[in-house]
Amino acid sequence: MGKENSRQFMISSAINELGTIFRYGNLIYWATINNIPVEEIKNELKEIIKKGLARVTLEIRCPKCGAHLGNFDDLNKVPLELICTDCGKHWRKTINLHESIELVIELTEKGIQFFRHKSLSYQNREKEGSIKQSLAFIFRVS
Ligand SMILES: [Zn+2]
Repeated sequence: MGKENSRQFMISSAINELGTIFRYGNLIYWATINNIPVEEIKNELKEIIKKGLARVTLEIRCPKCGAHLGNFDDLNKVPLELICTDCGKHWRKTINLHESIELVIELTEKGIQFFRHKSLSYQNREKEGSIKQSLAFIFRVS
């Protein structure tokens, strides 16, 4: 437990800014603009998923109009075909998967508890913490 609490995750700063649900692409972008090696962030992500602090969801979006086609927790659960109710695009897994899939990272209850603890100490240190939180809120909502 003590060891667990002393572990410093760089990803906790990302969570402070991105919120408890964020896209994998946004995390990589965050790492890039903060000069954090992408490989290290990927390793941390794997670690927090392994610890049960976060889970990954596959989000499928229509490659033609961007409409949300569904969320799945496993690639095997993604159907072979989907029809976009917004534009009528006939989506096929074998053809369209790579251009339309996004990984969504979501903190679990355990993860929210774990990183809330981190974010409180972060806020005490950083006076601009509340501004960052407001920005994260705006980006999450839009
Ligand atoms: Zn569409």
